Amino acid sequence: MAYCPLIYCQMSTIRGTKEWAVAEINCSFGCPYNCRYCYARTAALKHGLIDSPDQWTQSRILVEEVNRKHPHYQGQVMFPTAHDLTNENLDAALTVINNLLAADNRVLIVSKPSLSCIETICRRFADQKQKIVFRFTITARNPEILSFWEPGAPAYQERLKALKFSYRQGFSTSVSIEPVLDMSDLEGLVEELEPYVNHSIWIGKMNRIEQRVIIDSDQVAAEVKRIRKEQQDGEIENMYQRLQHKPLIRWKESIKEIVGLPLSTQIGRDE
Ligand code: SF4
Repeated sequence: MAYCPLIYCQMSTIRGTKEWAVAEINCSFGCPYNCRYCYARTAALKHGLIDSPDQWTQSRILVEEVNRKHPHYQGQVMFPTAHDLTNENLDAALTVINNLLAADNRVLIVSKPSLSCIETICRRFADQKQKIVFRFTITARNPEILSFWEPGAPAYQERLKALKFSYRQGFSTSVSIEPVLDMSDLEGLVEELEPYVNHSIWIGKMNRIEQRVIIDSDQVAAEVKRIRKEQQDGEIENMYQRLQHKPLIRWKESIKEIVGLPLSTQIGRDE
């Protein structure tokens, strides 16, 4: 596929990924992780790029995006934003990262990390680690909750190993707990991860549930009900009070709006 509208479809306000990066790069379409809250799958359905949610799990390499020569962007670049890094697209991803670094870009690599993929990236770009930030999405420790919401993604322990590995290799490491999937264990999760984080830990709500989550069973309905309850304003304010003293914590706009913090006014500030 030569052109992917998903790459360009979220370009209106400073929310979501625009808080983190001035440019969003992808090299494949579709994602086997099949998260129930996936915004990219929702966008693909809306734009007619897939006919049914099931088709999202079949991933295809975007050859022109892989081979694209990039300029030097005026700020941090995020890769990927609408798929993840898997053994199937790793070679393509290595080419894209190399192309971005060749133009002296600072690359924010965001993933629910496969350990083998992260090991390969760390080894391949060991001599350019000062231009790379890893941001690993780790949304819960509870295996039942994690596998329910992110059925095809690596388990918690694998993501933790990937975080430890990249940290010990001397890379900048960051975590995204967005969406928070288990508010009851959030502090425990942060405590376990923070020794291996030297950049930031971002926390955010599950957004636009009614548009993105397909409620096709009683179990999904019950989980959505639990998430909605856990992210009511009062619960978010309590959580903010408990965690706001921690220096690594950053708040996504979904939290800032509730607790009264100013929203980002500059694209890609990542703070
Ligand atoms: S990892 Fe990201 S792109 Fe893949 S299904 Fe989950 S939310 Fe969607």
